[in-house]
Amino acid sequence: MAAKFQTSFCLPSVSTPTTKRKPYFHSLTISASKSISGRKLRAAVIGGGPAGSSAAEALASGGVETFLFERNPPSVAKPCGGAIPLCMLEEFDIPHHLIDRHVTRMRIFSPSNIAVDFGKTLKPHEFIAMLRREVLDSFLRSRAHAAGATAVDGLVTGLDLPASPSAPYTVHYTANGSSRKSLTVDVVIGADGANSRVAKAIGAGDYACAIAFQERIKLPDEKMAYYENLAEMYVGDDVSPDFYAWVFPKCDHVAVGTGTVRAKKDIKINGGKVIKVEAHPIPEHPRPVRVRGRVALVGDAAGYVTKCSGEGIYFAAKSGRLCGNAVVKASEGGERMIYECDLRREYLKPWDAEYVTTFRFLDLLQRVFYGSNACREALVELCGDEYVQRMTFESYLYKKLAHGSVRDDVKLFMNSVGSLMRSRIVGTRMDSLIL
Ligand SMILES: Cc1cc2nc3c(=O)[nH]c(=O)nc-3n(C[C@H](O)[C@H](O)[C@H](O)COP(=O)(O)OP(=O)(O)OC[C@H]3O[C@@H](n4cnc5c(N)ncnc54)[C@H](O)[C@@H]3O)c2cc1C
Repeated sequence: MAAKFQTSFCLPSVSTPTTKRKPYFHSLTISASKSISGRKLRAAVIGGGPAGSSAAEALASGGVETFLFERNPPSVAKPCGGAIPLCMLEEFDIPHHLIDRHVTRMRIFSPSNIAVDFGKTLKPHEFIAMLRREVLDSFLRSRAHAAGATAVDGLVTGLDLPASPSAPYTVHYTANGSSRKSLTVDVVIGADGANSRVAKAIGAGDYACAIAFQERIKLPDEKMAYYENLAEMYVGDDVSPDFYAWVFPKCDHVAVGTGTVRAKKDIKINGGKVIKVEAHPIPEHPRPVRVRGRVALVGDAAGYVTKCSGEGIYFAAKSGRLCGNAVVKASEGGERMIYECDLRREYLKPWDAEYVTTFRFLDLLQRVFYGSNACREALVELCGDEYVQRMTFESYLYKKLAHGSVRDDVKLFMNSVGSLMRSRIVGTRMDSLIL
């Protein structure tokens, strides 16, 4: 049955990048059929990282015909520290045997090499899970396939936008490095990471990126034993001007990384053997456009990495699943066509309601505490406070705003001001920091 839509209500639009925008959506009223009788809604998910696999699993489980494109074989790892919060294990049913290390101790080093142990408030069952991305991604991808998503092993090379509101998108790809192929679909989910071609195709705009470097270093057994359940973080101009450096333990090696080019040579673990060197951009903020027409961006492609901590795996999986479920809901289990307004209502709106404040808050913390070595000294001093540790871990591990007591919050505020004053920050830089 044909349905009537108005721009103010739900326009079945297929917006194109600003340079190529077509005029036919500018009329006030437009008719388009929502019915796709005789077949299921067809979706292409580009990228089989945590975002893409979670989206594909949700789509296929919900009755949408789903194709999951991935250019790399399972053995290729996305450059990543592989630290995930406790709540992700449960929410995404991640089996414990995939975890390399249960980190219960974090040591943070200030620019003047003062070390503070962070993690004293963890309860006996709490830890940060350390995984290798090749292991996690293979698992999530296999689960999407088991749910019914068709695996397409190939590099997506282009996306043709539709010529009318309900016409298909065409995904161009090369399979097995040679033959050129194409597939037409109704909906596209761009989960193709920080260098997203899907984002480019829809003119989603750019975001600023940090470049993160990481070396995987094999250590002698006695040194590896030192990192059994310990992760280290280093802050200071010498390791990164606006981020931190890390040592994260893995099964038989450590991952050592930093957020900048400048510091790469300065991080060394003596006696170790470098077995892999990797680098990748990390988005600094969401893209100007995350939904256009029947295309949605998720994970790094959308820009969902928190400042300050550089965390993105959980947000990738979460946004992928939310977006997949949004398509399932709007299409009534793959029975109907969906439109841009559906993606905005079912995906963007709930996402922003849940996470915008968290992202802004972490952005503010980064600007306050990573701005100079003096600020970083103040940060490390504050990390020694048990209340700060408890609030930080509760927020990180469970992805919920931790509730503290008013008395302790006031004390924390005073301590923060005290630390910043000792570091001569208050009065010189605070005026420029706005949430
Ligand atoms: C060095 C480093 C360390 C990090 N450490 C952590 C950490 O410890 N914890 C944390 O939470 N976050 C960390 N992050 C961030 C985290 O890695 C990302 O936020 C996360 O991987 C985003 O997942 P995603 O699925 O959106 O994208 P990605 O993981 O980038 O996956 C994108 C997938 O798309 C595929 N792809 C791309 N283009 C195409 C194409 N054209 N055709 C077909 N396939 C394509 C890629 O092969 C890839 O598999 C780190 C990032 C870096 C760079």
